[in-house]
This record gives sequence, structure tokens and C-alpha cells, in this order.
Amino acid sequence: MQRTMMLHICCAPDGSVPIPDLLSEGWKVTGFFYGSNIHPQDEYIRRLEAVRTLAAHCGISCVIGHYEPDEWLAGVKGLEAEPEGGMRCRKCFTLQLEACAHEAVKAGCEYMCTTLTISPHKNADLINALGQEIASSHGLNWETRIWRKKDGFLRSVRASRELGLYRQNYCGCVFSKNQGKA
Ligand code: SF4
Repeated sequence: MQRTMMLHICCAPDGSVPIPDLLSEGWKVTGFFYGSNIHPQDEYIRRLEAVRTLAAHCGISCVIGHYEPDEWLAGVKGLEAEPEGGMRCRKCFTLQLEACAHEAVKAGCEYMCTTLTISPHKNADLINALGQEIASSHGLNWETRIWRKKDGFLRSVRASRELGLYRQNYCGCVFSKNQGKA
């Protein structure tokens, strides 16, 4: 029987390798785009459109979270001054993966996973550990992947160029905007 997965898509370029790879492995994939961490709103809209383009290209449906930047800011309150990769990012991953787990349960998916581990700038072990904990607290299975392995990141750069996907030059939040890492 086909295994069902809710895949947290942090942005279209980062989804451009995981989605086709999972589909070719036989998974039934539904995407989930969170987005409330992204600042400003016109940047959010740009990234959302790119996710929609990628989902349509891959032939998957994608759940779009409500854009609630104030809620995200409240969630990371007190961590604003943390460096990128620190405690604010840990909380941000948690907020995104919790939202994904809610949607996975609603959609009746058995598994969840994230595209976040394709980025060379992100702590893949931490992301997989958080994902595992959040998935099991919702009665879901976590699919552990480190997408940047086997040239995953380079492949994503190539794939997003071929598909003409918008590629941002900062992670997403107002605090990362001037740091230039994606
Ligand atoms: S830098 Fe990226 S992962 Fe970290 S808090 Fe900002 S949006 Fe979230």
C-alpha cells in the first residue's frame, strides 16, 4: 500500500529535489507551506507563488498555512537577538513542524518530513530530532532525511533554475533578512 506523507516545504527551491525523489520512491506526498516566518509580506507572496508553481509542476496538492506573522513573532519572543542557527531557529523549526503535524493529522497522513535539511546552513540532526519528537506526539511517523546529502543542495540549485523558481537570498524572517543565508 502507498505510504502517505505530509511534507513540510520551507520554500520552493528546497522542495525541488525532495518532492520528485519521494514521488519516484512511491510515496503519496501532500505539501505543507507554513510561511508566517517570512518577512515582509510581498516576499511571502513571492515564495508562496513559487511553491504553488513547484507543486503544480510535480502534480501534488499543497496545504497553505494562514499567513500570521504576528503569531510567529509572538512564538519567538525573547529570542529576537539570537544568531542564525541558534535558539530562535530551533523555535521556528518547532512552530513550522507543529503546524505541519496538525495538517498531517487532519489530512490522515501517516508520515511527515521536511525539506529544511537540504540547506547547508541548517542543523539537520536537530531538525530530524525535533521532527521525530513532534511527529510522535501527534501519533505520526517521522521520515528522517538529510536532503543535502548526495549533492542534494546542488541538484536543487539546478532544478530551481530549470523551473525558473524564485530563489531568495535570506532564510526568511525579519532577523535573517540582512544576513544573506538561505
Ligand atoms: S533565520 Fe530562518 S529558521 Fe531562523 S528564525 Fe529566521 S526564518 Fe526561522
